[in-house]
Amino acid sequence: MEKILDLIIVGAGPAGIYAGHLAKEANLNYIVLEASSEVGGQVLLYKDKPIYDMPGHVDILGEALVDALLKQATLSHELKRIHLNEEVLEVSLIDQLFQVITSREKYRSKFVLLTHGGGMMLPKTMGLLHEEATKNISYHVSDPSLYVNQKLILFGGGDSALDWAHYFMNQNTDVTLIHRRHDFRGDERLLSKLKKNIVIKTPYKASSLNINNEMVQSVIIENLETKASEEIQCDHILVFFGSVPKPHQLLLEGVLKKGHKLKVHTTMETSLKGLYASGNGITYEGKLNMITTSLGETATAVGNIIESLYPEKTKSYQKK
Ligand SMILES: Cc1cc2nc3c(=O)[nH]c(=O)nc-3n(C[C@H](O)[C@H](O)[C@H](O)COP(=O)(O)OP(=O)(O)OC[C@H]3O[C@@H](n4cnc5c(N)ncnc54)[C@H](O)[C@@H]3O)c2cc1C
Repeated sequence: MEKILDLIIVGAGPAGIYAGHLAKEANLNYIVLEASSEVGGQVLLYKDKPIYDMPGHVDILGEALVDALLKQATLSHELKRIHLNEEVLEVSLIDQLFQVITSREKYRSKFVLLTHGGGMMLPKTMGLLHEEATKNISYHVSDPSLYVNQKLILFGGGDSALDWAHYFMNQNTDVTLIHRRHDFRGDERLLSKLKKNIVIKTPYKASSLNINNEMVQSVIIENLETKASEEIQCDHILVFFGSVPKPHQLLLEGVLKKGHKLKVHTTMETSLKGLYASGNGITYEGKLNMITTSLGETATAVGNIIESLYPEKTKSYQKK
């Protein structure tokens, strides 16, 4: 028989990750659904930027904040509750339960918390003709064994590109790393190891793809200084150019239009009973788009959901 969840959290930016932590603390049966291949939401856009307005921190890098939130939310076995690469497409209310349809599954839940923020964080592509119709270009590694003993081209200059280049360098993979600048943002020591073991080409960009049967056979790359082109054969391509936000596509009859922000009561409940929202996807007078406000709203939302589900779990200091 289908199991009915207590709570479905939509989006794993700061608000969604923190909501997962609070739900775990109250022993709710919950899941967090994230469209992207990584948690962190908008913070993925500024991983290396110091954040100066987080309480308790003089400053903290975006990436370190996401790591800390995730560590708090996923202590031990709880990681499986955060589903990556699962976009929520539709939320509806059927027989007093929410039905949530995603790109993979259909779920039923007593409560839904929308923490979809500034939209879906999607990987930045190379912007090449027919790129999206190919089967051997990926923007994250889901199954590392796919690339072992293969000819792999990796694009990017940050930590993800360097970390995976290093990983595959030790897997008998023929790795070529291509970056548009001579300087890399990733770890210096890793880079010097890579320089000794794999082909690194800078400053290059991909200018076109040779495709056969939806498979890229080779890439034409262009030297950004000399403008000279060359062709590199490949079995697979991995692109690590970071993420871009795309307006959410969620639709909820009478409550939410595609790309619009949600109105909430002070409890963070929307006009639909049982549907809550917090973070950058909501609006009210005086709303500020900040991590701290997103987290505060999330505490209010989850606190009120817990109070409705299991009033005995509400802590005495939280009582009104
Ligand atoms: C460049 C930049 C610098 C910033 N600097 C600061 C700063 O210094 N201090 C500060 O406080 N704030 C800063 N902010 C703002 C801060 O990042 C946001 O306020 C915060 O990320 C909001 O968190 P959130 O969880 O509400 O939403 P988001 O971070 O937008 O996360 C939403 C998540 O939901 C996912 N999602 C969306 N739709 C769906 C769907 N249909 N199905 C599944 N998943 C979905 C997205 O992929 C995303 O992961 C900055 C923002 C930017 C862009």
